[in-house]
Amino acid sequence: MSTLPEAGADLLGSNSLRLPCIADWCADVEDPSDLPALLSFARERSLPLHVLGGGSNVLLPEHLHGLVLRMRNRGIALLEDSATRRVIRAAAGEPWHPFVLHCHARGWYGFENLALIPGTVGAAPIQNIGAYGVELERFVLEVRGMDLHTGLPRVLDAAACAFSYRDSIFKGGLAGAFLITEVLFAVPADPVPCTGYAALAAELAHCPDPGHADVLSAVMSIRRRRLPDPAVLPNAGSFFKNPVIAAEEFERLLLAEPEVAHWRQSDGRVKLAAAWLVERCGWKGRRDAGAGVHEAQALVLVNHGGATAGALLDLAARIRDSVHERFGVTLELEPVPL
Ligand SMILES: Cc1cc2nc3c(=O)[nH]c(=O)nc-3n(C[C@H](O)[C@H](O)[C@H](O)COP(=O)(O)OP(=O)(O)OC[C@H]3O[C@@H](n4cnc5c(N)ncnc54)[C@H](O)[C@@H]3O)c2cc1C
Repeated sequence: MSTLPEAGADLLGSNSLRLPCIADWCADVEDPSDLPALLSFARERSLPLHVLGGGSNVLLPEHLHGLVLRMRNRGIALLEDSATRRVIRAAAGEPWHPFVLHCHARGWYGFENLALIPGTVGAAPIQNIGAYGVELERFVLEVRGMDLHTGLPRVLDAAACAFSYRDSIFKGGLAGAFLITEVLFAVPADPVPCTGYAALAAELAHCPDPGHADVLSAVMSIRRRRLPDPAVLPNAGSFFKNPVIAAEEFERLLLAEPEVAHWRQSDGRVKLAAAWLVERCGWKGRRDAGAGVHEAQALVLVNHGGATAGALLDLAARIRDSVHERFGVTLELEPVPL
């Protein structure tokens, strides 16, 4: 291993909520060939392993027991450029938004709707990142990495990743057991820009025949306007997933709440706007113990200063209870507590 893990590592600057956290040990993985030695280091000391990318979707405790593997390996390569598709390999430690810009600049279109999502390439499959009508799963060809129990390399194709809305096998059966070292993406050689999402369509209303560059700039403008920048006001983006409920349950809810914001799904179920539910329960702008609900975005919990993971989880639990009491709907957390 090129460098020894750091003892008592301060991770305050390594998570977008700026939660105070000291990890027993932390190593930056710049070269995946260091992984076997790092796994031995952890095994010899009976340390649990934790994987960290950009820290934009985690809730870190004040003391994190174990060895944190912070993915910092880099590299983007075009492996195939045929009449039908392009295959791109990207290292887990590549920052996501610069990766989107890198692909766009070379004409490898498709990722534009996912611009400006914070974090790394390696974390993107974990919750199947999605925005403005596109989810990552449509581009994933293979996820390559290491089984953290056996230390052996392993490759999963898209079907094995079991992607669904903000979910995958990496949050289910393989949670905590798989470290992603690189991802292979396939984008069509000539994709059609994806402009159907209502907010994006409205932003592009002035543009008669939007191309990929128009989609990229529209997505970036909407996000810059609507979402608080974690560098200014620490946050982890949406704190709750949009709940998806059965059609019969939705019809009952609609009778009581005719204005409930929702999207009908192709399987008959209905996705509700969690932000609408939280806002209706009066949470927008409220704060407690340094933790708060953003003034404009009810789905975004923020650290106004001095909040801990405990304070955010307390606030989230109270929000969840009030939404359940009023609407009978259960909200699920989006960020992952480590
Ligand atoms: C302002 C803001 C806006 C956001 N907007 C969106 C959005 O529009 N859509 C969306 O889907 N998400 C959004 N997010 C959430 C977040 O950006 C994504 O979930 C992102 O993929 C997290 O990447 P990360 O590298 O920061 O992961 P981390 O926060 O470091 O880790 C998240 C989880 O992935 C695991 N993990 C990370 N890297 C690896 C790896 N290489 N191998 C195995 N496990 C790994 C971690 O253990 C943890 O469980 C937003 C967040 C913020 C702060």
